[in-house]
Amino acid sequence: MTVNILEVKNLKKYFPIVGGVFSKKIGDVKAVDDISFSIKKGETYGLVGESGCGKSTTGRTILNLTRPTAGSVKFEDEVIFDIENKFNIEKTKMNSLRRDMQIIFQDPYACLDPRMNIGSIVSEGLKKHKIAKGKKAMNMAKELLELCGLRGTYINKYPHEFSGGQRQRIGIARSLALKPKFIVCDEPIAALDVSIQAQVLTLMQELKEQFGLTYLFISHDLSVIKYFCDRMAVMYLGSFVEVAESEKIFSNPVHPYTKALLSAVPKSDPTAKKDRIILEGDVPSPANPPKGCKFHTRCSYVMNICKKVSPETREVETGHFVNCHLVDR
Ligand code: SF4
Repeated sequence: MTVNILEVKNLKKYFPIVGGVFSKKIGDVKAVDDISFSIKKGETYGLVGESGCGKSTTGRTILNLTRPTAGSVKFEDEVIFDIENKFNIEKTKMNSLRRDMQIIFQDPYACLDPRMNIGSIVSEGLKKHKIAKGKKAMNMAKELLELCGLRGTYINKYPHEFSGGQRQRIGIARSLALKPKFIVCDEPIAALDVSIQAQVLTLMQELKEQFGLTYLFISHDLSVIKYFCDRMAVMYLGSFVEVAESEKIFSNPVHPYTKALLSAVPKSDPTAKKDRIILEGDVPSPANPPKGCKFHTRCSYVMNICKKVSPETREVETGHFVNCHLVDR
């Protein structure tokens, strides 16, 4: 049986809204609103949803890069935080855990310090964690660059000398430097040209197999999730609406929001029937989400109960979970 590498329970991340003369708290932006899931060792778990639905905040909160509001996260045997029990991992322990938990950022232009050469960027973690320094660290950086399909001689160059795809490879090399077990991939190909996206995805897949990595793969692009992820969660306004193996969601989507997202994915067969579902209206503000089912303001199947009662999570087939009142009918 495959063990869980990550367990997330009832995670919430609210950002306070302050206003008025005395800058008092007047509300919260509920970026992540009570989500629970686990990721198995060696699995690629996808998080998908429209921009602003809380995907990236989820990734950052799990890594303790931003303070959680509620919930708990356990990585292997180590509890990182458990807000209900007022537990937060010690800083020194978290620092050493960071070797195992890395992140690849979305924007390959913004995530590399323009003042540092590539060798220093890739080997920064090695020095910080006292694994290697000087020539040894630079040699390791060279090896990592070569592993990611770049020339080792690039160590003396600077970020502005590289294309977007090359920069993302540098970002991947940096995240691999500490031999992590788990990587949060935050829209890693969103800022790249389509022609480069496949190359970077292939590289990530190869590295995953070579090093037995586990990924949390965040994307708004369902076709990428389908290609890359074993299981996936569809997120809307900070909550999960459907969770299953990717294959099941693509062959049997149940939640109206998932169906709408899938209907927008381009089909490879130009003769295939297109039943595009157009979602009416904008995504409501996470500062003031609709009562009941958060999707009810845009759902064409909305019923009275949807406006008052938040749907429970139901298992519609083995390992396929949906939050929608239609499932109860
Ligand atoms: Fe639509 Fe109601 Fe299901 Fe929400 S609970 S997705 S409003 S049918």
